[in-house]
Amino acid sequence: MRLSFTAPAALLLAACAAPAADLGLEAPLPAAVVQPPLASDAEIDASITAPLEPTAASMEWNAPSAPFKVIGNIHYVGSKTVGAYLVTTPDGHFLVDGIVPQSAPLILENIRALGFDPADVKYLLNSHAHIDHAGGLAALKRATGAIMVASAADTPILEAGDVFYGPSKGMKFPPVRVDQIIDDGETLSLGGVILTAHLTPGHTPGCTSWSLPVAGVDGAAHTAFLHCSSTVAGQRLVPESYPGMIDSYRATFEKVRTLEADIFLANHDNFFGLAEKRARLAAGDANAFVDAEELQAFNTAMEAAFETQLAMEEDMAR
Ligand SMILES: [Zn+2]
Repeated sequence: MRLSFTAPAALLLAACAAPAADLGLEAPLPAAVVQPPLASDAEIDASITAPLEPTAASMEWNAPSAPFKVIGNIHYVGSKTVGAYLVTTPDGHFLVDGIVPQSAPLILENIRALGFDPADVKYLLNSHAHIDHAGGLAALKRATGAIMVASAADTPILEAGDVFYGPSKGMKFPPVRVDQIIDDGETLSLGGVILTAHLTPGHTPGCTSWSLPVAGVDGAAHTAFLHCSSTVAGQRLVPESYPGMIDSYRATFEKVRTLEADIFLANHDNFFGLAEKRARLAAGDANAFVDAEELQAFNTAMEAAFETQLAMEEDMAR
C-alpha cells in the first residue's frame, strides 16, 4: 500500500508533500525572543469557526482522529488525513504543524488526551507554508506561547498568511510571527532531544524536513524523518511558480538520496500509509512505523512524478 496514493490525482492537486538527513549535531541555537502571533485574537477566533474550504472538507483535512504514540517520544496529534506531531521531552515539547486554521482546537485536544499540557509546548515548527499545514499555527502559538521556528524562505509566507502562487494562492490563513529562523543542518535541543532541520525546498521555497533519533521498543535505536513534502501538487513548473523551483526540487531529491532514516513520517496520510500502519500498531506491532526502505522509496517515486510532470509541461509550452 506504500506509495500507492489513494486520493484521485485531482485531489492531490491541493495536497502537499517533500524530504532530507545527516545527523551532524550542532550546538543548540540561542533562545529566541517569543512574540505574540501576528494575527489578532479576532482574526484567529474567526478563522477557527470559519466554514472549511471545499477542498479541506472533501479531503477530511479537519476530520477528528484519536491521537496515539507512534514510537518512542513521537506522538500523532493530527487529523484523520493531515499530520501534526508532538515530540515530547522531560523539559517541554516540540509541535510540528498546525493543519488548517479550524484544526487548532482538535490538535490541542489531542495533546491533552495523551496526557500532555499544551502550555508545555516550547517549540512550534512547520513543514511548509501552505494552508493545510500552517493554517492553525497562529492559534497554536497563542495557546502555547511557543517559539515559532521556520526557514527563512517560508517565513514571508507564514508572516503574510498567504501563498503568492499555486493552487492555494488566496486561501488565506492567520499570519504567524516567526521568532527564530532555522537553516539547513541546524538543530533544536530540548530535554535531551535534538531535532535537526533539513531544508528540502521545491514544494515550497523553504520546505523543511526534520529528523531525530528515537528509542523504540527495548531501547532499539531508530532515526525518524518528518518529511516536508516533494509533490508538485498542482503547482506550475513551466513557467516556474517561483524562481529556482525546478533546481530546488532536483537538489532536494539528490539530498534525500544521501539521508538515512528508518521511520518515515509525512503530513498527508496517503504519503505514508497512516491508516494501515496505525491498524498494525493497534494490533500489537510496536514497530509498525519502522521501515528502512520507505524514505528512499518515497523520494524515488516523487522524483519520477516530478520529472514526468515537468516533461509534460515543457511539451505543452512548446
Ligand atoms: Zn503543500
